[in-house]
Amino acid sequence: MLLLSQVSKRYGDALALAATDLQVPGGETLVLIGPSGCGKSTLLRLIAGLIQSDSGSITFEGAVLTPDNILQARQQMGYVIQEGGLFPHLTVRDNVTVMARYLRRDPDWIDARLTELSNLVQLQPELMQRFPAELSGGQRQRVSLMRALMLDPDLLLLDEPLGSLDPMIRYQLQQELKAIFARLGKTVVMVTHDIAEAVYFGQTLVLMRDGYIVQTGSFKDLAQAPAEAFVEQFISAQREPMAKLTEALK
Ligand code: ADP
Repeated sequence: MLLLSQVSKRYGDALALAATDLQVPGGETLVLIGPSGCGKSTLLRLIAGLIQSDSGSITFEGAVLTPDNILQARQQMGYVIQEGGLFPHLTVRDNVTVMARYLRRDPDWIDARLTELSNLVQLQPELMQRFPAELSGGQRQRVSLMRALMLDPDLLLLDEPLGSLDPMIRYQLQQELKAIFARLGKTVVMVTHDIAEAVYFGQTLVLMRDGYIVQTGSFKDLAQAPAEAFVEQFISAQREPMAKLTEALK
């Protein structure tokens, strides 16, 4: 269970996140959605403890996160940033195992976990010795996911994990990711700007604008009972291209 209470963040005079409350029950996938710059990544970075909030508190697994316990808590969080964020000078194997080696986990355990994860994300074992630049975009995203899952975290934080992929690969990875979440029963907070992807993954959508949560609920809630005109506009702006395609086929 993850609980945010009145968490806010400013950069100088600019408000990145207004005082925000959010609750993510264990085992659920919650999707943050909204236009670019609305504060989605800021919210995720605050949860991961990569930046400090100006106010409020974040409670994770019953404990309020503080500068003193955040490193410990981070071991229970897997974080995938936009574009994957792999270390370019490390092989796939070293990228995935870097934290486990730092924590001096048993080498046999590390090897077994690496095999388990490469099976899970369907990445061929022979790619383990390659460097990120020698992989396709889809393969790099799989490696990022392996790295995030290495220590078997309770919480996965995914910032546009499929954002840079072409539509076919994206579709395939969406299906695989959803199956992985269901199988592992993880709590997931995912950022996307694509409403179809949000609906595909999330039980709960959190629609944001200008640092504020505009509405939280299922897609049906947002579509049938929009909290304000912006919700309708956001949904129809994304529906429009599909409607044009359907029209062109008539
Ligand atoms: P999103 O992920 O929804 O695109 P962000 O959370 O990245 O939005 O950004 C929210 C706002 O905070 C934006 O206006 C952005 O320009 C600003 N912002 C984010 N990070 C920084 C930073 N390190 N310094 C200054 N402003 C930032």
